[in-house]
Amino acid sequence: MGDSINYLTTAVVQIEESIGHIVCKTTVHQTPAWGKTDQPNFYNLALEVETDLNHLQLLDKTQAIENNLGRIRTEKWGPRTLDIDILYCGDLIFNDKRLTIPHPYLHQRKFTLDLLVELNPYFVHPVLGKTNFELQKEVK
Ligand code: ATP
Ligand code: CA
Ligand code: CA
Repeated sequence: MGDSINYLTTAVVQIEESIGHIVCKTTVHQTPAWGKTDQPNFYNLALEVETDLNHLQLLDKTQAIENNLGRIRTEKWGPRTLDIDILYCGDLIFNDKRLTIPHPYLHQRKFTLDLLVELNPYFVHPVLGKTNFELQKEVK
C-alpha cells in the first residue's frame, strides 16, 4: 500500500543502519500478488546482508523496521506497506513458533526464486539440497 518504492528505499537504509552491511542488492521486481490475488502488484527486492546479529535478533530488527514504516497486520497475505522476510541465514536450519529458516515458502514462489537467483544462483538451499537456480527451474 502507498508509495512502495519509497518504503523499499527507506527499509534498505534502516537495514543498513540497524542490521548490517549490505553486500548485494537486487533490482526491484514488480509482481502480481501471491496467495491473495485481488490486490495491487507487489514490489520486491532481496538483499544479502552481513550481520553480527543472531537469527532471532534479526527477526526483532526486521519487525521493528516494518513497524517503523507503519505496517499494520490485517488479513493474511493482504495488502501491506512493507513486508520483510528472512529467506536464508547462511546454512542455518531453524524452526520454532516465531521463525522458520529457510523461509517455508521460498521454494514455491517464483518471485522469490527470481530474486535469489539474481543474488546468487549457486547458493544451495540447506534443507532441499538444491541451488537457487535449480529451484527456480522447478517452480511454475
Ligand atoms: P509469508 O510468511 O507466507 O510470506 P507474510 O510475510 O505475509 O506471509 P507475516 O504476517 O509478515 O506473513 O508474518 C507472520 C509471522 O511469520 C511473523 O510474525 C514471524 O514471526 C513469522 N515468521 C516465520 N518465519 C519467518 C521468516 N523466515 N521471516 C520472517 N517472518 C517469519
Ligand atoms: Ca512474506
Ligand atoms: Ca513476513
